[in-house]
Amino acid sequence: MNTLDRLFSREINRRTGAHVINIYIDSIDSSRQRKKHPHEKRRSSATQDDNKPSITTRHRKRSFLYRLNLRFPWLKLLAVIVISVAAILDLCDLTISKLYETTASIAVAPMSRHVRATERILEGKKLVALTFDDGPSSETTPRLLDILRQKDVRATFFMLGSRASTNPELVKLVEKDWHEVASHTMYHQNLIKLKEQAVQSDINEANVVFNQILGHTPSFTRPPYGNINDNVRSYVNTPMILWSVDTEDWKNKNTESIVSLTLSEVYDGGIILMHDIYPTSVDAVPVLIDTLRNDGYEFVTISELTKIRKINPIKGNAYYSFYP
Ligand code: ZN
Repeated sequence: MNTLDRLFSREINRRTGAHVINIYIDSIDSSRQRKKHPHEKRRSSATQDDNKPSITTRHRKRSFLYRLNLRFPWLKLLAVIVISVAAILDLCDLTISKLYETTASIAVAPMSRHVRATERILEGKKLVALTFDDGPSSETTPRLLDILRQKDVRATFFMLGSRASTNPELVKLVEKDWHEVASHTMYHQNLIKLKEQAVQSDINEANVVFNQILGHTPSFTRPPYGNINDNVRSYVNTPMILWSVDTEDWKNKNTESIVSLTLSEVYDGGIILMHDIYPTSVDAVPVLIDTLRNDGYEFVTISELTKIRKINPIKGNAYYSFYP
């Protein structure tokens, strides 16, 4: 017999009073012939009167799992390993579905991944958006980009289409550095003094330029001087972003004044207006960044600010800040 499991039991036959010893034999291979137990012969010749225990062999049915364990003892070890690994994964909060989710989130476009990561980190923090108008300028904007890179700050550039068209590589560099490129119209005209068609063509011309350089039109427009009327509202094809802090950098051309004006007007969700075409404005930027950081502010682009504050700006509407 190949694999046997034997158990003995002793009992008294109630009817005859004879002693009986049962030998339970479990064979996992029913096709094999069972050999007779050597005591079985003696049992046949023995009589009950001898008062000697008779010996019987009985086959006992065992469960499927019991027989499985006999044939494949290593299965038990495998099950223990699988359950342990599952428990460890669960403890680490790394279920199979979560592993799949992690893999899926890696496979998104680089830009949206970057914005999403920033949103998660900045939720619940004091936010402010630095915005630079009237550029880009090949004389001052590259230095500003260096400073922003050094300080790890992202800003929004409301560019003129006319200046962008003569500095296309600089426009691309601004976006490559994760800043946001927005429209400040084509020629910086006072739109409320223009006729309908002139407003429309100025805004459209700028969008064509940005689309040619970047492959997309800007998400936001800032009308020159912040001047808006119904005509502007109906022809601008994006939400309009104005400001809550006017640094008056074009007028004072002084770092101290820019910083003190900002500190007196800034609040969470505020938008700071500056111009990257003045060297004095660029000089003020690192001081302004350090001062606001000391005050607990984080810097975001306009797109990030709207997303973090869960506001979906409407085309033609004007926004001055995104207070939480
Ligand atoms: Zn301007």
